[in-house]
Amino acid sequence: MRSTEITPDKDGEQVTLAGWVHEVRDLGGLVFIVLRDREGFIQITLPKKAVEREVFNRARKISRESVIKVEGIVKREDKAPNGFEIIPKTIEVLNGSSAPLPLEVTEKVPAELDTRLDNRFMDLRRPKVSAIFRIKSQVVRSIREFLYEEGFIEVQTPKIVSTATEGGTELFPISYFEREAFLNQSPQLYKQILMSAGFEKVLEIGPIFRAEEHNTTRHLNEATSVDIEMSFTDHEGVMKLLERLVAKVYADIIEKCDKFLKILEIKLEVPEVPFPRISYSSAIEIASKSQEIPWGEDLDLQALKTIGAEIGGFYFITEWPTKIKPFYVMPFEDEKISKSFDLMHGYIELASGAQREHRYEKLVEAIKAKGLHPESFEFYLKAFRYGMPPHAGWGLGLERFVMAMLDLGNIREAMIFPRDRVRLSP
Ligand code: ATP
Ligand code: MG
Repeated sequence: MRSTEITPDKDGEQVTLAGWVHEVRDLGGLVFIVLRDREGFIQITLPKKAVEREVFNRARKISRESVIKVEGIVKREDKAPNGFEIIPKTIEVLNGSSAPLPLEVTEKVPAELDTRLDNRFMDLRRPKVSAIFRIKSQVVRSIREFLYEEGFIEVQTPKIVSTATEGGTELFPISYFEREAFLNQSPQLYKQILMSAGFEKVLEIGPIFRAEEHNTTRHLNEATSVDIEMSFTDHEGVMKLLERLVAKVYADIIEKCDKFLKILEIKLEVPEVPFPRISYSSAIEIASKSQEIPWGEDLDLQALKTIGAEIGGFYFITEWPTKIKPFYVMPFEDEKISKSFDLMHGYIELASGAQREHRYEKLVEAIKAKGLHPESFEFYLKAFRYGMPPHAGWGLGLERFVMAMLDLGNIREAMIFPRDRVRLSP
């Protein structure tokens, strides 16, 4: 049984529980064990007179964080945390824990993030930490449910690839038998090929690998991307889908994760749709309060902070200069600007998307204009010569989304085992 399945009205019933010893309090004639399982805490009470001597003597010596199995009787007790306690008949130590502990599981002593990540198995035993991943799990589930409902087909594309998606430098090379290969930085090219295949709406939730040299609080070297691609629509169409998805996920989390939001002391509200749309040009105007950004340059962190502070919450930055977006974005008739957008939350970019260039000749030109070689994209370009429909899509960073939702100060908090510039283990 799990702790949450027991209630005071089970008074007198026999139950079996298993979990970790969160705390042992020995008051001489009375010993309390706080048992922790996945769902919460339960008080095991051992009055010296009411339990067998052997059980009593063993209980008081159990080390914290040992795994135990308890068989006992539920007793209604108004003074106990959940309104009941368990009077044990037997306590079996399934596996003892060593001491001292590498990390405190009780919230009493704060620990450095590095220490926590080095001992992640133990860090994750803390309710505040595991709550993040219980919510993240529901986020993924809600995203899937929403997109399946919308008719998306979930796919898996290769993570070992021969070319860079965007020809960037942010690639991890690997050895692939006698050749060099790379870890994929995005499923972009593959999900587009699937538009030519006639899949019409595809979804992929999978890892992306970025050899980002810099160590920031919003970059990981391995992140999870929620990617969609959709035919017969444009950038507007997929922006509307994205904002509806965000609102639906928030509504689900509020409804289904109340317990975890309470543990994290977070109050969520469903964001109002549609989100504001700010063009790149007006964004640099807002940013000019803190610094001058020449038209055509990317928005740096300081600029995004100024814009984020002004607008707040969720918003889109649209109509980006074509030259700072990847080759596959579709330009407007005025080719300086593109049908691209970023979904922002405050100063943090959560997603990038665009209508894509589906015209073969234009696409080849765009690849060349970025100084890349069309030959290395032949596997991709081929799909554009035999009936590629117009299409659009986006990639949403899952950890960034969770970070924004739960107001986490560091993206590492949203990844169970994060990979960063220095961390490769655990
Ligand atoms: P940024 O400019 O913030 O580094 P990006 O524009 O390089 O991000 P995209 O290529 O647009 O990122 O990827 C789509 C989404 O994937 C981003 O909006 C972000 O949410 C997420 N993402 C990209 N790179 C990382 C990373 N290194 N760590 C975590 N999430 C990332
Ligand atoms: Mg981006």
